[in-house]
Amino acid sequence: MNILIIDDSPEDREQLKFLLNLGGHFELFSVDSISKAFKLLGIDMRKDMVSQSYDLIIIDIFMEGGNGLLACEKIKSVSHLKDIPLIAVADTLSMESMLIAFEVGVSDYISKPLDNKIELIPRVNSALNLKKEMEVRKAREKDLKKMTTLLESSNSKLQGANRLLKELATIDSLTGVANRRYFQMHIRREFKVSLRNKASIAILLADIDYFKSFNDIYGHQRGDKCLKMFATALKNSLNRPADVIARYGGEEFIVLLPNTDQKGAEIIAQRMHYMVNEMKIKHSGSKVDSRITFSMGVSCLIPAKETTVEFLIANADKALYQAKNQGRNRYVVYQDENGAGV
Ligand code: GH3
Ligand code: MG
Ligand code: MG
Repeated sequence: MNILIIDDSPEDREQLKFLLNLGGHFELFSVDSISKAFKLLGIDMRKDMVSQSYDLIIIDIFMEGGNGLLACEKIKSVSHLKDIPLIAVADTLSMESMLIAFEVGVSDYISKPLDNKIELIPRVNSALNLKKEMEVRKAREKDLKKMTTLLESSNSKLQGANRLLKELATIDSLTGVANRRYFQMHIRREFKVSLRNKASIAILLADIDYFKSFNDIYGHQRGDKCLKMFATALKNSLNRPADVIARYGGEEFIVLLPNTDQKGAEIIAQRMHYMVNEMKIKHSGSKVDSRITFSMGVSCLIPAKETTVEFLIANADKALYQAKNQGRNRYVVYQDENGAGV
């Protein structure tokens, strides 16, 4: 380990080297002034610009032509030097100077004259051991920091992947029916098939009545349970494998009925109302019934080249709005300006 000696007395430098050699320390560097020491230590340089590092500094704090205590303070203020232990040597040290020395970061003290000061050896060894331990701890901390950063980044990647997976999933996790994303894709395909076959296609848009007040009265958990039961009742009203139900929004569900005209769609709408009523879910906050009810908009058409999916859904939405306005707990079939259905 590298030890730097800062002492203006050639005899004392030699004496220190002799003692250190005795203790098995041979990587010794010495200078006779603070300014030379600062140059060696690279006090004004960045850490990566300094070629030599030191593990211990032994400094005569009462050198002529320099304030050793100030030098210690300066060394301790530089980030790449502050962990190097300092051992002070001095002729005579008043109690006050000794206190100042410890205050500026000196970790040990040896008095001059140095002849036969064999005690220097264990003191140097203990300072060097402390430095080693500190380095091990710092390396461990650095590793830990690296691991934490790595963990954080993989965690956020995982979260991103999970979000994507959720988006890609086609099932609504609460109710178990298809989600809106799936429905949007599916209806486009079905729409094209109906266009080709000149077949009627129907959309049902269902929205639970006064559901906000259901949550307010019975709590969100019961609200969720009600949503699940509601979705199941709607689903159980469908017979054909091609029929698809999806959760369209919070308490709004959409149903696609391919190859179905207005009459067929109305039968399904009525069946759904019957099934939901039969669940007998109490809703004391509803202004239309003592049980959970819902309103429904029905839209039906045979697609032409210029008709769009959006048009079909928008019509169902308009009809739903009318059902709500006409008193809820009912379905309304959308009619165009001429009052024509399919
Ligand atoms: P309207 O008869 O006009 O439809 O009244 P509403 O209270 O049903 O309508 P509104 O759109 O004001 O409120 C919908 C409520 O649905 C809001 C929210 O409390 C509830 N909701 C939406 N999503 C969920 C959900 O996932 N779980 C539960 N428990 N409640 C939901
Ligand atoms: Mg709603
Ligand atoms: Mg509602």
